[in-house]
Amino acid sequence: MQFSKSNFSEWFTDVLSEAGIMDIRYPVKGMPVYMPWGFAILRKIFSYLEGQLEDAGHEQALFPLLLTDNLLAKESHMLEGFSPEVFWVDAEDDGRKLAIRPTSETIMYTMYSLWVQSYKDLPLRIHQTVTCYRQETKATRPLIRGREFYWNEAHTVHATREDAEKQIAAGVDIYSKVYNMLGISFLPFVRPEFDKFPGAEYSIAFDTLLPDGKSLQIATVHYLGTNFSKPYAILYKNEKNERVPAYQTCYGISMRALAAVVAVHGDDSGLVLPSKSAPIQIIIIPFTKSPEIGEIEFKLKSFGYRCRVDDSGRRAGDKFYHWEAKGVPMRIEVGERELKGNSVKIAMRNGEKQVVKISELDKIGSLFEKYDKSLGEAHADFIEKNTYSAGSLSEIKKGGFVKFGWCGDDECAGKVKEQGVEIRGEIYGKKPVKLKCIACGKDGKEVYAVHPY
Ligand SMILES: [Zn+2]
Repeated sequence: MQFSKSNFSEWFTDVLSEAGIMDIRYPVKGMPVYMPWGFAILRKIFSYLEGQLEDAGHEQALFPLLLTDNLLAKESHMLEGFSPEVFWVDAEDDGRKLAIRPTSETIMYTMYSLWVQSYKDLPLRIHQTVTCYRQETKATRPLIRGREFYWNEAHTVHATREDAEKQIAAGVDIYSKVYNMLGISFLPFVRPEFDKFPGAEYSIAFDTLLPDGKSLQIATVHYLGTNFSKPYAILYKNEKNERVPAYQTCYGISMRALAAVVAVHGDDSGLVLPSKSAPIQIIIIPFTKSPEIGEIEFKLKSFGYRCRVDDSGRRAGDKFYHWEAKGVPMRIEVGERELKGNSVKIAMRNGEKQVVKISELDKIGSLFEKYDKSLGEAHADFIEKNTYSAGSLSEIKKGGFVKFGWCGDDECAGKVKEQGVEIRGEIYGKKPVKLKCIACGKDGKEVYAVHPY
């Protein structure tokens, strides 16, 4: 099957189905099924993320799915922000209404208040990979917006503001590594007041661009200050023996990481996977029944590659199409002629081909490096080409990253929104750039806007 990426929306749906990523036929709105290939890719991405979190001092735990209404109500912004989206369960607990987690702050922090007693218990860094549930009012879309979403959330507690803000930088760094591994470029923004996480002092979010020019938010990092530790009583005894509220952060990445990989790298033949996210990195297509095929497979596995031989009865051409559609980064063809020359034919998913000696298969790591690098560079180029400055409201187009000055007023943000784009904030970690507001002409700072999903 051929796909046409020029009609991106249709292409995206077709590829999800043909590559065996999602099945959207499950009869509950916003709850598609992850098929084995799709879930295997998702787990590769999340295993990498979990490894990075653990290297940076986080521990994994698993908290319950249900909470009671009074837990949600403890932090007023939480209740306000999430109430319309909460799924309530038709059962009670001690006369309390039960809800399914829309996110896990209220659940985890209830326990944190018991676990954190002294400054010796800090910092506390815990993460979990779970599904959360929200009644989406907007149109749902597989991997982009659903009523069930799969994510990893990390929640940390610190003795000082300074230590918590260091953790914010560490969270941004971990997520940057994940997207760097995936060859996905993004911009990290400090969200404007009107767009921050309910209860956060400030929020940082990563936005990327998909091929249709719309932006997708692919990670968030929030500084909570003491906004949650006060109502949830996450207090610790300091060196003076006083019980004081702790400082908190939380951050998350969802299945949108997989959406970005599919959308950004895929082509008219289907999926294109960065090598570390591929459940199978090398597919061997044999044109002979020689025992040497098994030896080549064994050798590649011993080098640490995820490798499989396609010895199914399908025609060679069908095998090529099948594994190309699934995005397998490297195909190795072995026939009598190749074996006589003690070599194999290698074709990368991006079209690069070469003949490699069997004795030199230990050097194919450089082919993966080159391949991954080219995927990352192509997306970085795409973002650069689709980032522009606007000097007046009429210069704003729908699509890409547009930068201009903004005074911070909601009214001016509204005028920008009338142009079809939304202000996403200033770049995190960059010195603010002074610029006159695009809407009112008053003093302002440089911000970016996008046409979001
Ligand atoms: Zn203004």
